[in-house]
Amino acid sequence: MKETSQFPTDLEQANGLRKRIAELTVELKDAEAGLNRLTTRCNHQWTEPVYIPEHHEGYQDHGDPPGTMGVDRRLPSYIPARTIDEWKRTCTQCGHTQKTRHTRKEQKPIIVSGRQQSVEVDVPAFY
Ligand SMILES: [Zn+2]
Repeated sequence: MKETSQFPTDLEQANGLRKRIAELTVELKDAEAGLNRLTTRCNHQWTEPVYIPEHHEGYQDHGDPPGTMGVDRRLPSYIPARTIDEWKRTCTQCGHTQKTRHTRKEQKPIIVSGRQQSVEVDVPAFY
């Protein structure tokens, strides 16, 4: 006679989790498709771009360990700090967010000595 336990075996627990993962995967795909439909048909109303630069501190790169040979051997060098320009904008209608690291040139009117001129400025470009 087979002994039954009130506690599920590891196999039963694992199979239960597999079933749950399959169900949640279907739910996730449905949610993603629904969100995609909403954001695709939205006539986006974008907020002004917000500047969100990504800063990387400079650091000392020690290069390849002594004894390493070859023309591609990396020598010790200082990697300077750098800032990657990035902007994001959000749609006020559907909440969709876009980020970009690209800019484009735009003519901006300015007043110099009472006369209107224009200067070329970089503005974030979203695609
Ligand atoms: Zn939208």
